[in-house]
Amino acid sequence: MDDSPAPLTIALSKGRIFDDTAPLLHAAGVVAQDDPEHSRKLILGTDRSHVRLIIVRASDVPTYVQYGAADIGIAGKDVLLEHGGAGLYQPLDLQIARCRLMVAVRNDFDYESAVRQGARLRVATKYLRTAREHFAEKGMHVDLIKLYGSMELAPLVGLADAIVDLVSSGNTLKANHLRAVEEILPISARLIVNQAALKLKRKTIQPMLDAFSAAIAGSRRRQVPAQA
Ligand code: ATP
Ligand code: MG
Repeated sequence: MDDSPAPLTIALSKGRIFDDTAPLLHAAGVVAQDDPEHSRKLILGTDRSHVRLIIVRASDVPTYVQYGAADIGIAGKDVLLEHGGAGLYQPLDLQIARCRLMVAVRNDFDYESAVRQGARLRVATKYLRTAREHFAEKGMHVDLIKLYGSMELAPLVGLADAIVDLVSSGNTLKANHLRAVEEILPISARLIVNQAALKLKRKTIQPMLDAFSAAIAGSRRRQVPAQA
């Protein structure tokens, strides 16, 4: 029987996901041959001849993995919630690219009264599905307006009363006279695996999952030093 490892394609997005994933890949013995920030290549070779990386839009990562065009991917929980997760196995929280999905409004908008009075709110977001579920659970009526970026602008120019967006430091909200009023959920990047690929290529994929788990556990131990 052929014992050479099965070819493996890993989908990820450039920017913070690639930057935060590179050390984990390194721990799994995989080093990209090009830097996606400086290369125009969309398929990157690695020092392991059976592993290649494909560089796609963050929100497209689950789609590539769902259809098996990539075996493995790395995607934010925010993106996975919008995608729905069909055909995907989500074995690991990588604990990178951490932020929070929040509702925010203008500093001078009385969100609490609007909620109490059952006002109908206009909410701008790129996270339609997650926002719809959040406000439905609260029993609030909202009109959702789909945007693709710069959500912070919407309340400033009267497009919306509120936004649903990712917040990390809160500096962008502050700079635009907005305040966060509700946390919908904490976000981090997840490893996703095509369900069929996991069965067919387990011998190649499992050691990779194990290396990722070990690297995450190691960095958690460094972040939380044992009590003296
Ligand atoms: P694009 O910038 O191409 O429109 P994007 O905004 O989805 O796409 P990124 O900004 O690279 O792409 O975000 C990728 C993922 O990183 C997001 O899906 C989210 O999980 C996470 N993320 C986004 N913003 C932050 C942040 N401020 N801090 C930490 N993680 C973040
Ligand atoms: Mg972005």
